Amino acid sequence: MDYQWYPGHMTKARRMMEENIGLVDLVIELTDARIPMSSRNPDIDKLSANKARILVMTKADLADPARTATFQKYFEDKGWMVAAVDARTRKSNDKIRAYVEKACSAKRERDKRRGIVGRPLRAMVVGIPNVGKSTFINSFAGKASAKTGNKPGVTRGKQWIRLNKNLELLDTPGILWPRFEDRQVGINLALTGAIRQELLEEQELSLELLNFLQREYPSLLTDKYAPEEKWDLPMDSAELLTKIAEARKLLRTGGEPDYQRASKLVLDDFRNGKTGRITLETPPADDPETAAGSPEAARAQGTAGGAKAAATGGEESE
Ligand code: GDP
Repeated sequence: MDYQWYPGHMTKARRMMEENIGLVDLVIELTDARIPMSSRNPDIDKLSANKARILVMTKADLADPARTATFQKYFEDKGWMVAAVDARTRKSNDKIRAYVEKACSAKRERDKRRGIVGRPLRAMVVGIPNVGKSTFINSFAGKASAKTGNKPGVTRGKQWIRLNKNLELLDTPGILWPRFEDRQVGINLALTGAIRQELLEEQELSLELLNFLQREYPSLLTDKYAPEEKWDLPMDSAELLTKIAEARKLLRTGGEPDYQRASKLVLDDFRNGKTGRITLETPPADDPETAAGSPEAARAQGTAGGAKAAATGGEESE
C-alpha cells in the first residue's frame, strides 16, 4: 500500500485511532522486526494506556534471528508479551492466541469484580503503514471467522471479526504515523519500504545501506556480490557501488557503471531478503524507560512502575 503523509492525513489517522482505541480492551501493536525501534511510534504508549498490549514483531523471516531474540528480550523486560512472526503464515497464531488469553484473563477478572459477565473482549491491531497489519489480520483471524454486524453503541460501519466467543477483533487496523524528525529513522523507514523513497534519493539511500552493511554484515555483502573476488571491506561506499555495478555488469553504453540500476539492485535485494537476514537496529543500551518501567525494577523499588507494566499487559496477566 502506498501512503503519502500529509498533515491532514496524519490528523485523520490519529483521530480514527483515538476513536477506535476507546472501544477495545486489548491492543496488538505491530512493529517491523528489521527496524523494531524506528517502526514504533512512541505515542502508542500514551494512546493505549490502561489497555492490555501484545507486541508482534512482523517480517521476522527477513530479520537477523540473533537481533530479533535480543529485541524480544528488550521488549519483554518492559513487561510486554512479544511474538516474532512471519505474518504471512499462521505458524505463530497459537502463541499469540495464548498471549491474548493471558492478557484477557486479567481483564476478565476485573470485569467479574465489577459484575460484568460474558462480554466478549475486543482487540485492535495497530502499526505504521506497511508493517503488515492487513496481512496479520488475515492470518490471525482466518477465513473461517465470521464478521459480526454493527452493534449498538458502535459507530456505524465498524466490523468486528469474532475470533471465538470471548474475543472480537476490529477488522480495520489503526494506522500509526512514523516519526520523521530523526534522519536515521527516516532512512530506516525508507530502506524497509515503509515510506516512499522519493523522500530520499535512491542512490543516497543505497549508499547509506552499503555503509551499514559494510560495518555490520560485511560477509553477507561479499557472499552476495563477490563470492569469487573477496572484496577488502570496508571501502568507500560509492566505490563499493561501482564494484557491485561492475560485478553484475550493470553498465551504461560506453562501459560506465550504471549507478541507478546498481542502487536499485542493492535496495531490492535487501528489501526482498536476498542479501540475507538483516536487522538495521540494536536495542538502546541505556533505556531509562526500561530501567524504570520494568516489572523487575518496579518490584525492586516498590514503585508505580508495576502498575504500568500491568496496564500494558505484562505482569498482571502472568
Ligand atoms: P499494512 O499496510 O500494515 O496493512 O501492511 P500489509 O499487510 O499490506 O503488508 C505490507 C507488505 O508486507 C505486503 O507486501 C505483505 O505481503 C508484506 N508482509 C507483511 N507481513 C510480512 C511478514 O511477516 N514477512 C514478509 N516477508 N512480508 C510481510
